[in-house]
Amino acid sequence: MVEMRKPIQVSEAVRLVMEHVHVAGTETISLEHTYGRILAEPINAKHDVPSFDRSPYDGFAIRARDTAGASGDNRIPFIVIGEIGAGHVAERGIEEGEAYRIMTGAPIPENADAIVMLEQTTEGKDRFTVRKVFSQGENISFRGEDAKEGARLIEAGVFIHPGTIALLATFGTAEVNVAKRPVVGILSTGTELLEVSDELAPGKIRNSNGPMIAAQLTRMGIGYKSYGMQVDDLDACTEIVEKALAETDLLITTGGVSVGDYDYLPAVYERLGAQVLFNKVAMRPGSVTTVAVLGNKLLFGLSGNPSACFTGFELFTRPAILGMQGAITPYMPRMQAKLGEDFTKPNPFTRFIRAFWEMTSDGIIAVPAGFNKSNAVSSIARGNCLIVLPSGTRGYTAGMNVDMLLLGAEQGVGEWAL
Ligand code: AMP
Ligand code: MG
Repeated sequence: MVEMRKPIQVSEAVRLVMEHVHVAGTETISLEHTYGRILAEPINAKHDVPSFDRSPYDGFAIRARDTAGASGDNRIPFIVIGEIGAGHVAERGIEEGEAYRIMTGAPIPENADAIVMLEQTTEGKDRFTVRKVFSQGENISFRGEDAKEGARLIEAGVFIHPGTIALLATFGTAEVNVAKRPVVGILSTGTELLEVSDELAPGKIRNSNGPMIAAQLTRMGIGYKSYGMQVDDLDACTEIVEKALAETDLLITTGGVSVGDYDYLPAVYERLGAQVLFNKVAMRPGSVTTVAVLGNKLLFGLSGNPSACFTGFELFTRPAILGMQGAITPYMPRMQAKLGEDFTKPNPFTRFIRAFWEMTSDGIIAVPAGFNKSNAVSSIARGNCLIVLPSGTRGYTAGMNVDMLLLGAEQGVGEWAL
């Protein structure tokens, strides 16, 4: 008799997975290697930014009060007493009627409190005139205006991107404390599987899930160990899963989690004594997605169907891997879009449709990316998002507002809210 499985909601499945995530620890690495890592400690301003008052323009540093009464009919002259290039410091302060020629980024000389932009002057040799009144502080980039010493600027658990790296560099953080990356194992199961380079043979298909998952990990900057392909054999399958688990922090298998005669993953979990968190999720595709835990390691049993496999990874595995690094925004960003074409299939379960979104003159439109069954591979290739249609709905027509999850975003969001 076929085993009856009780489906749980996607949000509940996500919650269960995240509840069983163990943070992998931290390490210190050089700044140049931090792109894509998760910060293990917050960034606090080690000093004011900028750390001195400076000129935001090429121009002249003056005393604002010396421009009193200036107008088009009453141009006020200044004498240029020297030049300050970026990286240099003025030899002395300025006095009444004096100015320094100053370059962008150079420190404001003593007594000066305004910058006249080159475009605001009529220049002569060693002198210029202004025809407007300048206020104190005009065109000055003030010490600490960007960040005040001691301020908390970025929280721990944030994804390190080029901007984060600029900030770390600003404070001289050459060595950065980041989360350790988990090592992830990938095993593709199925007697029908061929290597990518193999010729097709009767009844066989090429393994597309293995390379796809590898790339989903690469997109996250996560390294993996590939355990190749495994024919549907319980003993052999148990052996390789056990070996893979010993060598990795998290294991992804594809295929073999359904209730067919050769779906051996449930039996493997049982043999190994792994606790199955769920083996049916109220979603399409990927309702057979199974997650188990053994010790502090998660085992993701993704469906062999390519669209289901892809979706299962993005919904469950990706946030878990980010969670293992202490990421505070592990979930895919959401947006609303107008559905680009009718979608009339009923939704007994929440449906995730591979789709392509873009901004048009009609606003943001998400168009389903073609053949959209769980076994589809072409729509994954075309999609850049997943449209989410809640369960219990049917008859979506073009133009209706729908939610979508964005694929491939570096920075996610902190809450799963679907
Ligand atoms: P399963 O989850 O093992 O029941 O497989 C479901 C469907 O996905 C079957 O049609 C399999 O042939 C197919 N499939 C399983 N593994 C892969 C794979 N690695 N690459 C592409 N298709 C696969
Ligand atoms: Mg199979």
